Amino acid sequence: MDLKQIYTQMVMEESRSTRNKRDLENPTHKELGHNPSCGDEITLQLDVEDEKIKDISYTGNGCAISQASTSIMCDTVKGMEVKKTIELADKFIAMIKGEIRDENELEDLGDGIAFINIRNMPARVKCAVLAWYTLKDILVNDKKEGSFTP
Ligand SMILES: [Zn+2]
Repeated sequence: MDLKQIYTQMVMEESRSTRNKRDLENPTHKELGHNPSCGDEITLQLDVEDEKIKDISYTGNGCAISQASTSIMCDTVKGMEVKKTIELADKFIAMIKGEIRDENELEDLGDGIAFINIRNMPARVKCAVLAWYTLKDILVNDKKEGSFTP
């Protein structure tokens, strides 16, 4: 099995995981992310305390790539500082756009590296980056739970 197949398998397995698919009790931030070109819809819920992501979860539906990307992202950024999380979102998006070619630079993305081959699949780019774009939007614009409009 080559690396590409391993990554594909990781994505397929993670897309069925429900580990991070739940409601948070008292989220500080909540936002809907929508990818009309595929029909992916995810709502991210965050509990941000002291500039750190104390907890993160999601609800919603979509294709395997969007669901797996969201779930892996939740694992990766849980416990992380907000500033570092925004940097990581930029890095993931740059990887998907094919702007980072050196895989050593991608180490801190954790299992997120499984999506590296999406850069060769333009139709799936929006599926893979949806969660990260939504997360960055929440953190940069401070989208509080009260401002949520479905
Ligand atoms: Zn999709």
